Amino acid sequence: MTDITAGWFDPSEYLIGGHWHDAPATLPIEDPSTGQEIGAIARCGSREVSDAVAAAQTALEGEWGGFTAAERGRILLRLARLIEERTEALAVLESRDVGKPLTQARADARALARYMEFYGGAADKITGQTIPYLDGYTVYTLREPHGVTGHIIPWNYPMQIIGRSVGAALAMGNACVLKPAEEACLTALAFARLAQEAGLPPGALNVVPGLGEEAGAALSRNPGVRHLSFTGSAGVGTLIQQAAATNIVPVTLELGGKSPQLVFADADLGAALPFLLSAGLQNAGQTCSASSRLLVQRPLWDETVARMAEAYGKLRAAPALEDAELGPLISARQKQIVQGYLSRDEGLQLLAEGRVSSDAPKAGHYVAPRLYATTDPTHILAQEEIFGPVQVMIPFDSEEEAVAIANGTGYGLVASVWSESGARQMRLAKRLKAGQVFLNNYGAGGGVELPFGGVGRSGHGREKGFEALYGFSTLKTVAARHG
Ligand code: NAD
Repeated sequence: MTDITAGWFDPSEYLIGGHWHDAPATLPIEDPSTGQEIGAIARCGSREVSDAVAAAQTALEGEWGGFTAAERGRILLRLARLIEERTEALAVLESRDVGKPLTQARADARALARYMEFYGGAADKITGQTIPYLDGYTVYTLREPHGVTGHIIPWNYPMQIIGRSVGAALAMGNACVLKPAEEACLTALAFARLAQEAGLPPGALNVVPGLGEEAGAALSRNPGVRHLSFTGSAGVGTLIQQAAATNIVPVTLELGGKSPQLVFADADLGAALPFLLSAGLQNAGQTCSASSRLLVQRPLWDETVARMAEAYGKLRAAPALEDAELGPLISARQKQIVQGYLSRDEGLQLLAEGRVSSDAPKAGHYVAPRLYATTDPTHILAQEEIFGPVQVMIPFDSEEEAVAIANGTGYGLVASVWSESGARQMRLAKRLKAGQVFLNNYGAGGGVELPFGGVGRSGHGREKGFEALYGFSTLKTVAARHG
């Protein structure tokens, strides 16, 4: 048991049908800030996953399946309050487990509560339609849950991603099987404990930690799962989509990005700068919607470069609980991937580099943040998702050129436009290939209410906001002939 879960829960247990079970085998929990092992989680396999799917089916046939929408909503609202009461404890768990600065982990815990509040409130607001049809007919539609939904999530934002996918799925009346990432499971387990405390019936939520190729693959292939929600890499996303095709089930893929911010000469640079910086460096750049490309129109180039470089010079990567601007990366493997990219920076201009705190443990996975410039938008560091604290600045002359660069990676998750011209904002909102476009901001407020998802290599389907409720349900048309 780790010191941070002591007296609360045993992280090596897993949840099926309302019961916490002893692990069949375990995997180590590593603290990314120190590189030290701090406990163990369960290594579930195909047997546990089958049991979890069966328990979810039983829940749908029993108490959970009989709940009204309002009753489901009430449980999620109670859960929101319980999460709020435990915000600090959840933030500490996430901070230790992910290596995320405490302030950022607190924001994630608050977002988790807000998701439960949002979906708790929305549960009984989803309605069907009546449709004018032939004379003598009444036609209407019903929104129904898929049944058992499988949720495979990554390590970078466990609380946020549980909130947006499990929250919406439960609101619609599905029963969930959650496979958290092997690198960071603790808040998923804590969430499940709180959900039980809030009165969620047995089997409505099952949590099976384990390796991707074992528990994850078993969940994606299980024919009892009727919808798959996957957040993670494009490579694994492809496998998930193939598994979903075999069983003919809908799948939501939330994959990576290379999201640009476009800064035009008429922009309010003072307002833009905090967003240019933080959108790239949150969670040490290990964010699917990280803004890793900054496109700046030439008249503002020198000033933007100077001010960004100055900010980078002050950045410090330090142990998560010290709450510096950046923590470590999640693992030695992730550090190796990022360093692999940095070793290929030939042809780029290094504008500035932050530092790793002198007291950061040597075995922690720290990388000093780097800011680059290039006039070649096809450079590998300007094309591929690095998933580390690295941003590349690219100058442009015309709006046309900016759009071509912005749309030129195959990804399409998020984009932003900084300009005082309303006409330009409207034009670009249409022309940018992205699931979300921000005008004079970047992801401000967290966006629990805002539909989110990608186009192109960033995936498909939408989570967050009301839209997620449509994704986690299916539409039935009822046509009645009378007389
Ligand atoms: P990953 O794809 O390796 O792992 C994600 C999850 O999939 C984990 O739970 C893992 O155990 C599981 N998994 C791995 N192999 C599997 C298999 N064969 N079958 C089934 N499940 C399997 O991704 P990662 O390295 O953990 O996360 C980084 C990636 O996630 C980045 O590309 C990032 O952009 C993306 N991401 C996207 C979003 C989004 O909302 N669009 C959010 C966070 C992360």
